[in-house]
Amino acid sequence: METTLKQIYQARKRISHMVRTTPMLHAPMLSDQLGRPVLLKLENLQETGTFKLRGAANALLSLSNDQKQKGVLAFSTGNHGRAVAWVARELGINCVICLSKRVPAFRVAAMESFGARVVQEGESQDEAYEVALRLEKDENLTMVKPFDDPLVIAGQGTIVLEILDVAPDVDTLVVPVSGGGLAAGVAKALKTADPATKVIGVSMDCAPAMYHSIQAGRPVKVPEKDSLADALLGGIGLDNRYTFPMVRTYVDTIELVTEEEIEQGILHAFTHHGILIEGAAAVTLAWLLKNDTRLLGHRVVGILSGGNMDRKLFSTILTKHQQTESGW
Ligand SMILES: *Cc1c(COP(=O)(O)O)cnc(C)c1O
Repeated sequence: METTLKQIYQARKRISHMVRTTPMLHAPMLSDQLGRPVLLKLENLQETGTFKLRGAANALLSLSNDQKQKGVLAFSTGNHGRAVAWVARELGINCVICLSKRVPAFRVAAMESFGARVVQEGESQDEAYEVALRLEKDENLTMVKPFDDPLVIAGQGTIVLEILDVAPDVDTLVVPVSGGGLAAGVAKALKTADPATKVIGVSMDCAPAMYHSIQAGRPVKVPEKDSLADALLGGIGLDNRYTFPMVRTYVDTIELVTEEEIEQGILHAFTHHGILIEGAAAVTLAWLLKNDTRLLGHRVVGILSGGNMDRKLFSTILTKHQQTESGW
């Protein structure tokens, strides 16, 4: 069954002691450029660095005692694993995280520091999933999926309750899309509050799995590429049950941005707001910076989904732009 608004409220109550109410920031330069107020929801300041904590906390807090005793298992491009590992440690639950070899070392280190056992095998998120399925059986662990789970979707949807508390007149939401747990949750919550609102999803153009799946009318596989938005890599699952139909119903469009535009988004956040966001979050700013006002309503909120940026990569981007731009 599709996640309901009621389940999103239940999630908010369940996870409130573990999750920060993240701040919202006025974006004066973007507001000027787009000719309407733009606010940014700073999930990069969430505990563990991303909104993924919300879904992970909702899923783990809903486990039976028996499941908690046996332990949990997750597969991830990094941020979901980090969130599950963090919540598992808080709750004293044994935790295994399956990652592909594509996941950068700095993300692996974070999960290990939270006491999770990390199994890094396979060349893609889909292959890491196969490994997880094997361990799930062999070790009797409970799988906590990164997006295609009603409890995870409900957890991510709690972001909209916080946005509506601060900006009840929001009419357009811009949100990064990978597997669609975030987009499904926030779109369901916002569209239930007001069906006239718009939800704009954004993905990177080199491997947008949900975008191609929506176009094809069914979940399709997309080869993984290297991207600055590495947390958006991975398929939506050929056996997708929840996020694909919800994104199709509630998200108005999925827009694509290039690697160069993502880089500009990262730089914009740092230059104009003094915040460090990762590539997956920067797709929101990258798209807003394209000035495509056709799709925008009068009051816009962009979700900056995470801040787990590799420092080396960030310093490379900074150096590159210091050399090419005279401004700063
Ligand atoms: C996982 C993730 C996303 C995408 O979320 P989905 O629910 O998979 O669509 C966006 N940004 C960051 C930082 C993430 O970690």
